[in-house]
Amino acid sequence: MLVLRNATVIDGTGADPRPKTHVVIEGDSIRKLGSETPRADDSRDIDLSGLTLLPGLIDAHAHLGLVYPLAAEGDPGLISPAEIAALTFENCNLCLDAGFTTVRDMCGVDGGLVRAIESGAVRGPRVFPSGPAIVQTGGHGHVSGPFCFQECHLAIPGLVQLTAICDGPDAVRLQARTNFRRGATQLKAFISGGVVSTTDRLEDTQLTVEELKAAVFEARARETYVSGHAHNVRSIRNGLEAGLECFEHGTQLDEATAQAMATAGAALDPTLAVTRLMATHWKEWGMQEFVVPRIRDCEAQMTQAVRIAEAAGVLLGSGSDLLGPKQNRRGLEIVLKAAILGAMRAIQCATQGNAKIMHQDHKLGTLGAGKLADCIAVDGDPLATPALLDDPARIVLVIKGGEVVKNLMPDRSERPAPAPARREAAAAVR
Ligand SMILES: [Zn+2]
Repeated sequence: MLVLRNATVIDGTGADPRPKTHVVIEGDSIRKLGSETPRADDSRDIDLSGLTLLPGLIDAHAHLGLVYPLAAEGDPGLISPAEIAALTFENCNLCLDAGFTTVRDMCGVDGGLVRAIESGAVRGPRVFPSGPAIVQTGGHGHVSGPFCFQECHLAIPGLVQLTAICDGPDAVRLQARTNFRRGATQLKAFISGGVVSTTDRLEDTQLTVEELKAAVFEARARETYVSGHAHNVRSIRNGLEAGLECFEHGTQLDEATAQAMATAGAALDPTLAVTRLMATHWKEWGMQEFVVPRIRDCEAQMTQAVRIAEAAGVLLGSGSDLLGPKQNRRGLEIVLKAAILGAMRAIQCATQGNAKIMHQDHKLGTLGAGKLADCIAVDGDPLATPALLDDPARIVLVIKGGEVVKNLMPDRSERPAPAPARREAAAAVR
Protein backbone atom coordinates (compact mmCIF):
# COMPACT_ATOMS: atom_id res chain seq x y z
CA MET A 1 0.00 0.00 0.00
CA LEU A 2 1.21 3.48 -0.82
CA VAL A 3 -0.18 6.58 0.90
CA LEU A 4 0.25 10.07 -0.54
CA ARG A 5 -0.33 12.57 2.26
CA ASN A 6 -1.22 16.26 2.48
CA ALA A 7 -1.46 16.97 -1.24
CA THR A 8 -3.46 19.72 -2.85
CA VAL A 9 -5.48 17.63 -5.29
CA ILE A 10 -6.67 18.73 -8.72
CA ASP A 11 -8.70 15.68 -9.68
CA GLY A 12 -9.11 16.25 -13.42
CA THR A 13 -12.87 16.87 -13.36
CA GLY A 14 -12.55 20.65 -13.28
CA ALA A 15 -13.59 20.77 -9.60
CA ASP A 16 -11.83 23.20 -7.26
CA PRO A 17 -8.50 22.02 -5.79
CA ARG A 18 -8.80 20.11 -2.51
CA PRO A 19 -6.11 20.99 0.04
CA LYS A 20 -4.70 18.54 2.62
CA THR A 21 -5.96 15.46 0.80
CA HIS A 22 -4.67 11.93 1.31
CA VAL A 23 -4.65 9.26 -1.38
CA VAL A 24 -4.43 5.56 -0.60
CA ILE A 25 -3.09 3.42 -3.43
CA GLU A 26 -3.42 -0.34 -3.37
CA GLY A 27 -1.88 -2.38 -6.16
CA ASP A 28 -2.39 -0.47 -9.40
CA SER A 29 -5.48 1.45 -8.26
CA ILE A 30 -6.65 4.25 -5.98
CA ARG A 31 -8.53 2.81 -3.01
CA LYS A 32 -9.43 6.00 -1.21
CA LEU A 33 -9.09 9.74 -1.66
CA GLY A 34 -10.15 12.18 1.05
CA SER A 35 -9.33 14.43 3.98
CA GLU A 36 -9.53 11.68 6.58
CA THR A 37 -6.05 10.68 7.80
CA PRO A 38 -5.33 7.11 6.73
CA ARG A 39 -3.86 4.65 9.23
CA ALA A 40 -0.10 4.35 8.97
CA ASP A 41 0.23 0.58 9.48
CA ASP A 42 2.27 -1.22 6.86
CA SER A 43 1.94 1.43 4.19
CA ARG A 44 4.70 3.35 2.51
CA ASP A 45 4.10 7.09 2.90
CA ILE A 46 5.06 10.03 0.77
CA ASP A 47 4.37 13.48 2.19
CA LEU A 48 3.23 15.87 -0.54
CA SER A 49 2.87 19.00 1.60
CA GLY A 50 3.24 22.06 -0.63
CA LEU A 51 2.80 20.02 -3.81
CA THR A 52 -0.11 19.66 -6.20
CA LEU A 53 -1.30 16.18 -7.12
CA LEU A 54 -2.88 15.72 -10.55
CA PRO A 55 -3.97 12.73 -12.62
CA GLY A 56 -1.18 11.47 -14.87
CA LEU A 57 -1.28 13.74 -17.91
CA ILE A 58 -2.47 12.36 -21.24
CA ASP A 59 -1.26 13.42 -24.67
CA ALA A 60 -3.96 12.49 -27.16
CA HIS A 61 -1.80 13.30 -30.18
CA ALA A 62 1.67 11.83 -29.85
CA HIS A 63 4.13 10.50 -32.43
CA LEU A 64 6.68 8.71 -30.24
CA GLY A 65 8.14 6.84 -33.20
CA LEU A 66 8.41 9.65 -35.76
CA VAL A 67 11.99 10.32 -34.75
CA TYR A 68 13.61 10.50 -38.15
CA PRO A 69 13.71 13.55 -40.42
CA LEU A 70 10.52 13.30 -42.42
CA ALA A 71 12.67 13.65 -45.55
CA ALA A 72 14.05 10.21 -44.65
CA GLU A 73 10.63 8.80 -45.50
CA GLY A 74 11.62 9.06 -49.14
CA ASP A 75 14.92 7.33 -48.41
CA PRO A 76 14.59 5.19 -45.30
CA GLY A 77 18.20 4.08 -45.74
CA LEU A 78 19.29 7.35 -44.10
CA ILE A 79 18.59 6.01 -40.61
CA SER A 80 18.82 2.50 -39.19
CA PRO A 81 15.98 0.66 -37.44
CA ALA A 82 18.25 0.41 -34.37
CA GLU A 83 18.56 4.21 -34.24
CA ILE A 84 14.81 4.62 -34.74
CA ALA A 85 14.15 2.20 -31.88
CA ALA A 86 16.68 3.92 -29.59
CA LEU A 87 15.28 7.40 -30.27
CA THR A 88 11.70 6.12 -29.83
CA PHE A 89 12.59 4.62 -26.44
CA GLU A 90 14.24 7.90 -25.44
CA ASN A 91 10.99 9.71 -26.32
CA CYS A 92 9.14 7.23 -24.09
CA ASN A 93 11.45 8.13 -21.19
CA LEU A 94 11.07 11.87 -21.76
CA CYS A 95 7.31 11.47 -21.94
CA LEU A 96 7.10 9.79 -18.55
CA ASP A 97 9.55 12.26 -16.99
CA ALA A 98 7.32 15.12 -18.21
CA GLY A 99 4.39 13.65 -16.27
CA PHE A 100 2.56 12.10 -19.23
CA THR A 101 1.62 8.61 -18.11
CA THR A 102 -0.59 7.94 -21.15
CA VAL A 103 -0.38 8.82 -24.82
CA ARG A 104 -2.57 8.15 -27.79
CA ASP A 105 -0.11 7.71 -30.61
CA MET A 106 -1.70 9.23 -33.71
CA CYS A 107 0.39 7.35 -36.26
CA GLY A 108 3.81 5.80 -36.27
CA VAL A 109 4.22 3.10 -33.64
CA ASP A 110 2.09 -0.03 -33.32
CA GLY A 111 1.51 -2.72 -30.72
CA GLY A 112 5.21 -3.66 -30.82
CA LEU A 113 6.08 -0.66 -28.65
CA VAL A 114 3.17 -1.40 -26.31
CA ARG A 115 4.55 -4.89 -25.71
CA ALA A 116 8.09 -3.58 -25.12
CA ILE A 117 6.76 -1.19 -22.45
CA GLU A 118 4.32 -3.61 -20.85
CA SER A 119 7.04 -6.27 -20.55
CA GLY A 120 9.17 -3.79 -18.60
CA ALA A 121 11.96 -3.83 -21.21
CA VAL A 122 11.32 -0.16 -22.03
CA ARG A 123 10.39 2.57 -19.55
CA GLY A 124 7.46 4.50 -20.95
CA PRO A 125 3.83 5.61 -20.74
CA ARG A 126 0.69 3.64 -21.51
CA VAL A 127 0.50 3.81 -25.29
CA PHE A 128 -2.70 3.59 -27.34
CA PRO A 129 -1.36 3.27 -30.90
CA SER A 130 -3.17 3.94 -34.17
CA GLY A 131 -0.60 2.19 -36.36
CA PRO A 132 0.04 3.87 -39.72
CA ALA A 133 -2.46 6.56 -40.69
CA ILE A 134 -4.77 5.73 -43.57
CA VAL A 135 -4.12 8.18 -46.40
CA GLN A 136 -4.97 8.48 -50.07
CA THR A 137 -2.58 8.65 -52.99
CA GLY A 138 -1.32 12.24 -53.21
CA GLY A 139 -2.75 13.09 -49.81
CA HIS A 140 -1.15 14.49 -46.68
CA GLY A 141 1.28 11.87 -45.49
CA HIS A 142 2.16 10.64 -48.98
CA VAL A 143 5.62 12.00 -48.36
CA SER A 144 7.78 10.75 -51.20
CA GLY A 145 8.04 13.21 -54.07
CA PRO A 146 5.47 13.08 -56.88
CA PHE A 147 8.16 12.06 -59.36
CA CYS A 148 9.80 9.51 -57.10
CA PHE A 149 11.03 6.79 -59.47
CA GLN A 150 10.48 3.95 -57.08
CA GLU A 151 8.22 4.46 -54.09
CA CYS A 152 10.18 3.63 -51.00
CA HIS A 153 8.09 3.78 -47.86
CA LEU A 154 9.49 3.34 -44.37
CA ALA A 155 7.49 0.49 -42.86
CA ILE A 156 8.91 -1.62 -40.04
CA PRO A 157 6.12 -3.76 -38.57
CA GLY A 158 6.45 -3.86 -34.80
CA LEU A 159 8.23 -0.51 -34.67
CA VAL A 160 7.05 2.31 -36.93
CA GLN A 161 5.18 3.22 -40.08
CA LEU A 162 3.98 6.77 -40.72
CA THR A 163 1.19 6.15 -43.21
CA ALA A 164 -0.39 3.52 -45.41
CA ILE A 165 -1.65 4.61 -48.81
CA CYS A 166 -5.13 3.25 -49.46
CA ASP A 167 -7.42 3.98 -52.39
CA GLY A 168 -10.94 2.56 -52.31
CA PRO A 169 -13.00 1.11 -49.44
CA ASP A 170 -11.50 -2.37 -49.83
CA ALA A 171 -7.93 -1.08 -49.47
CA VAL A 172 -8.99 0.92 -46.40
CA ARG A 173 -10.66 -2.16 -44.92
CA LEU A 174 -7.56 -4.29 -45.46
CA GLN A 175 -5.31 -1.68 -43.84
CA ALA A 176 -7.70 -1.20 -40.91
CA ARG A 177 -7.67 -4.94 -40.25
CA THR A 178 -3.86 -5.02 -40.52
CA ASN A 179 -3.54 -2.13 -38.06
CA PHE A 180 -5.80 -3.82 -35.52
CA ARG A 181 -3.93 -7.11 -35.95
CA ARG A 182 -0.73 -5.26 -35.05
CA GLY A 183 -2.22 -3.81 -31.89
CA ALA A 184 -3.92 -0.56 -32.92
CA THR A 185 -6.50 0.57 -30.36
CA GLN A 186 -8.18 3.05 -32.76
CA LEU A 187 -7.64 4.27 -36.32
CA LYS A 188 -6.37 7.53 -37.72
CA ALA A 189 -7.20 8.77 -41.20
CA PHE A 190 -5.91 11.88 -42.97
CA ILE A 191 -9.10 13.47 -44.29
CA SER A 192 -7.75 16.89 -45.26
CA GLY A 193 -4.54 18.40 -46.57
CA GLY A 194 -1.77 19.34 -44.19
CA VAL A 195 0.15 22.44 -43.13
CA VAL A 196 3.51 21.36 -44.47
CA SER A 197 2.27 19.26 -47.39
CA THR A 198 3.83 20.05 -50.74
CA THR A 199 1.39 18.46 -53.19
CA ASP A 200 -1.94 19.28 -51.56
CA ARG A 201 -3.69 22.21 -49.90
CA LEU A 202 -5.01 22.71 -46.36
CA GLU A 203 -8.43 23.33 -47.93
CA ASP A 204 -8.57 19.97 -49.74
CA THR A 205 -10.71 17.11 -48.53
CA GLN A 206 -9.10 13.67 -48.67
CA LEU A 207 -10.51 10.15 -48.72
CA THR A 208 -14.17 9.67 -49.68
CA VAL A 209 -17.08 9.21 -47.28
CA GLU A 210 -17.34 5.62 -48.58
CA GLU A 211 -13.68 4.97 -47.79
CA LEU A 212 -14.09 6.46 -44.31
CA LYS A 213 -17.21 4.38 -43.70
CA ALA A 214 -15.13 1.22 -44.30
CA ALA A 215 -12.69 2.35 -41.59
CA VAL A 216 -15.54 3.23 -39.21
CA PHE A 217 -17.17 -0.16 -39.76
CA GLU A 218 -13.93 -1.99 -38.92
CA ALA A 219 -13.35 0.19 -35.85
CA ARG A 220 -16.90 -0.23 -34.54
CA ALA A 221 -16.64 -3.99 -35.07
CA ARG A 222 -13.93 -3.83 -32.38
CA GLU A 223 -15.88 -1.31 -30.24
CA THR A 224 -13.48 1.48 -31.02
CA TYR A 225 -13.42 4.55 -33.27
CA VAL A 226 -11.72 6.53 -36.02
CA SER A 227 -10.14 9.96 -35.63
CA GLY A 228 -9.51 12.20 -38.62
CA HIS A 229 -6.70 14.66 -39.27
CA ALA A 230 -8.86 17.59 -40.44
CA HIS A 231 -7.96 21.24 -40.90
CA ASN A 232 -11.03 22.43 -42.81
CA VAL A 233 -14.78 22.19 -42.26
CA ARG A 234 -15.60 20.31 -45.47
CA SER A 235 -13.45 17.42 -44.30
CA ILE A 236 -15.04 17.48 -40.83
CA ARG A 237 -18.48 17.29 -42.50
CA ASN A 238 -17.35 14.25 -44.51
CA GLY A 239 -15.98 12.69 -41.33
CA LEU A 240 -19.22 13.28 -39.42
CA GLU A 241 -21.20 11.72 -42.27
CA ALA A 242 -18.99 8.64 -42.12
CA GLY A 243 -19.21 8.38 -38.31
CA LEU A 244 -15.80 9.64 -37.18
CA GLU A 245 -15.78 10.38 -33.43
CA CYS A 246 -12.83 12.69 -33.18
CA PHE A 247 -11.05 15.32 -35.26
CA GLU A 248 -7.41 16.37 -34.92
CA HIS A 249 -6.30 20.02 -35.38
CA GLY A 250 -9.66 21.50 -36.52
CA THR A 251 -7.86 24.65 -37.59
CA GLN A 252 -10.61 26.30 -39.63
CA LEU A 253 -13.57 25.21 -37.49
CA ASP A 254 -16.64 27.45 -37.73
CA GLU A 255 -19.68 27.78 -35.47
CA ALA A 256 -22.08 25.73 -37.60
CA THR A 257 -19.63 22.84 -37.89
CA ALA A 258 -18.86 22.98 -34.18
CA GLN A 259 -22.62 22.70 -33.53
CA ALA A 260 -22.80 19.68 -35.83
CA MET A 261 -19.89 18.09 -33.97
CA ALA A 262 -21.51 18.71 -30.60
CA THR A 263 -24.80 17.23 -31.82
CA ALA A 264 -22.98 14.13 -33.11
CA GLY A 265 -21.00 13.84 -29.87
CA ALA A 266 -17.73 14.19 -31.82
CA ALA A 267 -14.60 15.55 -30.14
CA LEU A 268 -11.94 18.05 -31.15
CA ASP A 269 -8.29 17.47 -30.36
CA PRO A 270 -6.49 20.77 -31.04
CA THR A 271 -2.70 20.69 -31.45
CA LEU A 272 -1.28 24.08 -30.53
CA ALA A 273 2.19 23.02 -29.34
CA VAL A 274 3.46 21.66 -32.63
CA THR A 275 2.24 24.76 -34.41
CA ARG A 276 4.11 27.04 -32.01
CA LEU A 277 7.29 24.94 -32.08
CA MET A 278 7.31 24.68 -35.86
CA ALA A 279 7.04 28.45 -36.21
CA THR A 280 9.90 29.04 -33.77
CA HIS A 281 12.14 26.04 -34.61
CA TRP A 282 11.54 25.75 -38.35
CA LYS A 283 15.24 25.60 -39.14
CA GLU A 284 16.02 22.72 -36.78
CA TRP A 285 12.92 20.93 -38.07
CA GLY A 286 14.30 21.10 -41.61
CA MET A 287 11.54 23.32 -42.95
CA GLN A 288 11.73 26.14 -45.45
CA GLU A 289 11.20 29.69 -44.28
CA PHE A 290 8.23 30.32 -46.60
CA VAL A 291 6.01 28.03 -44.52
CA VAL A 292 6.53 30.06 -41.32
CA PRO A 293 3.80 32.69 -41.97
CA ARG A 294 1.45 29.86 -42.94
CA ILE A 295 2.15 28.14 -39.62
CA ARG A 296 1.68 31.34 -37.58
CA ASP A 297 -1.62 31.93 -39.33
CA CYS A 298 -2.54 28.36 -38.45
CA GLU A 299 -1.96 28.95 -34.73
CA ALA A 300 -4.16 32.06 -34.78
CA GLN A 301 -6.95 30.13 -36.50
CA MET A 302 -6.59 27.15 -34.18
CA THR A 303 -6.83 29.42 -31.15
CA GLN A 304 -10.11 30.71 -32.52
CA ALA A 305 -11.25 27.13 -33.25
CA VAL A 306 -10.69 26.20 -29.59
CA ARG A 307 -12.90 29.12 -28.49
CA ILE A 308 -15.62 28.19 -30.99
CA ALA A 309 -15.58 24.51 -29.98
CA GLU A 310 -15.70 25.37 -26.28
CA ALA A 311 -18.66 27.72 -26.80
CA ALA A 312 -20.52 25.00 -28.74
CA GLY A 313 -19.94 22.44 -25.99
CA VAL A 314 -17.72 20.15 -28.10
CA LEU A 315 -15.73 17.58 -26.10
CA LEU A 316 -12.18 18.97 -26.12
CA GLY A 317 -8.95 17.00 -25.88
CA SER A 318 -5.32 17.99 -25.73
CA GLY A 319 -2.64 16.86 -28.17
CA SER A 320 0.91 18.11 -28.59
CA ASP A 321 1.60 16.51 -32.02
CA LEU A 322 5.34 16.65 -31.19
CA LEU A 323 7.57 15.14 -33.86
CA GLY A 324 11.21 14.14 -34.08
CA PRO A 325 13.79 13.01 -31.54
CA LYS A 326 14.08 14.40 -27.98
CA GLN A 327 10.41 15.29 -27.55
CA ASN A 328 10.70 17.36 -24.37
CA ARG A 329 7.97 20.02 -24.68
CA ARG A 330 4.84 17.89 -24.29
CA GLY A 331 3.46 20.15 -21.56
CA LEU A 332 3.51 23.20 -23.85
CA GLU A 333 0.10 22.15 -25.17
CA ILE A 334 -1.45 22.68 -21.73
CA VAL A 335 0.32 26.03 -21.31
CA LEU A 336 -0.99 27.33 -24.66
CA LYS A 337 -4.50 26.01 -23.98
CA ALA A 338 -4.43 27.65 -20.53
CA ALA A 339 -3.86 31.02 -22.20
CA ILE A 340 -7.12 30.53 -24.14
CA LEU A 341 -9.45 28.70 -21.73
CA GLY A 342 -7.76 29.08 -18.34
CA ALA A 343 -5.48 26.63 -16.54
CA MET A 344 -8.18 24.46 -14.96
CA ARG A 345 -9.91 23.79 -18.28
CA ALA A 346 -6.56 23.14 -19.98
CA ILE A 347 -5.71 20.55 -17.32
CA GLN A 348 -9.18 19.01 -17.57
CA CYS A 349 -8.81 18.67 -21.37
CA ALA A 350 -5.46 16.88 -20.93
CA THR A 351 -6.85 14.48 -18.33
CA GLN A 352 -10.60 13.80 -18.23
CA GLY A 353 -11.22 15.13 -21.77
CA ASN A 354 -8.58 12.94 -23.36
CA ALA A 355 -9.66 9.90 -21.34
CA LYS A 356 -13.23 10.36 -22.62
CA ILE A 357 -12.06 10.70 -26.22
CA MET A 358 -10.06 7.49 -25.81
CA HIS A 359 -12.96 5.57 -24.18
CA GLN A 360 -10.75 5.17 -21.09
CA ASP A 361 -12.52 7.48 -18.64
CA HIS A 362 -13.64 4.53 -16.48
CA LYS A 363 -9.94 3.96 -15.64
CA LEU A 364 -7.91 7.04 -16.55
CA GLY A 365 -8.00 10.83 -16.54
CA THR A 366 -9.38 11.58 -13.06
CA LEU A 367 -8.36 10.86 -9.48
CA GLY A 368 -10.92 8.92 -7.48
CA ALA A 369 -11.56 5.59 -5.77
CA GLY A 370 -11.37 2.72 -8.24
CA LYS A 371 -9.38 4.60 -10.89
CA LEU A 372 -5.93 3.45 -11.97
CA ALA A 373 -3.25 5.06 -9.80
CA ASP A 374 -1.66 7.26 -12.47
CA CYS A 375 -0.76 10.55 -10.84
CA ILE A 376 1.89 13.25 -10.73
CA ALA A 377 3.03 15.74 -8.11
CA VAL A 378 3.92 19.23 -9.27
CA ASP A 379 6.25 21.42 -7.26
CA GLY A 380 4.04 24.53 -7.08
CA ASP A 381 0.59 25.61 -8.20
CA PRO A 382 -0.07 24.90 -11.89
CA LEU A 383 -3.28 26.94 -11.76
CA ALA A 384 -1.27 30.06 -10.95
CA THR A 385 1.70 29.05 -13.11
CA PRO A 386 0.66 26.69 -15.93
CA ALA A 387 4.26 26.78 -17.26
CA LEU A 388 5.18 24.37 -14.43
CA LEU A 389 3.51 21.66 -16.51
CA ASP A 390 6.03 22.31 -19.30
CA ASP A 391 9.00 21.91 -16.96
CA PRO A 392 9.89 18.27 -16.20
CA ALA A 393 12.16 19.41 -13.36
CA ARG A 394 9.03 20.62 -11.53
CA ILE A 395 7.19 17.33 -12.08
CA VAL A 396 8.78 15.79 -9.00
CA LEU A 397 6.83 12.57 -8.66
CA VAL A 398 5.30 10.34 -11.32
CA ILE A 399 3.27 7.26 -10.45
CA LYS A 400 2.00 4.91 -13.16
CA GLY A 401 -0.31 2.07 -12.20
CA GLY A 402 0.62 2.43 -8.53
CA GLU A 403 4.33 2.25 -9.26
CA VAL A 404 6.65 5.19 -8.59
CA VAL A 405 8.42 5.70 -11.93
CA LYS A 406 10.03 9.07 -11.20
CA ASN A 407 10.91 10.65 -7.89
CA LEU A 408 12.82 13.91 -7.56
CA MET A 409 11.57 14.67 -4.06
CA PRO A 410 14.10 15.84 -1.49
CA ASP A 411 15.60 13.06 0.63
CA ARG A 412 13.09 11.06 2.58
CA SER A 413 13.84 7.69 4.07
CA GLU A 414 10.95 5.88 2.36
CA ARG A 415 11.73 7.16 -1.10
CA PRO A 416 12.91 4.48 -3.56
CA ALA A 417 16.35 5.16 -5.03
CA PRO A 418 15.97 5.83 -8.76
CA ALA A 419 18.66 4.34 -10.98
CA PRO A 420 21.38 6.95 -11.66
CA ALA A 421 20.87 6.87 -15.41
CA ARG A 422 17.20 7.71 -14.94
CA ARG A 423 17.97 10.65 -12.70
CA GLU A 424 20.40 12.02 -15.27
CA ALA A 425 17.83 11.56 -18.00
CA ALA A 426 15.29 13.48 -15.93
CA ALA A 427 17.75 16.27 -15.24
CA ALA A 428 18.76 16.52 -18.89
CA VAL A 429 15.21 16.80 -20.12
CA ARG A 430 15.36 20.47 -20.93
ZN1 LIG B 1 0.17 14.46 -35.96
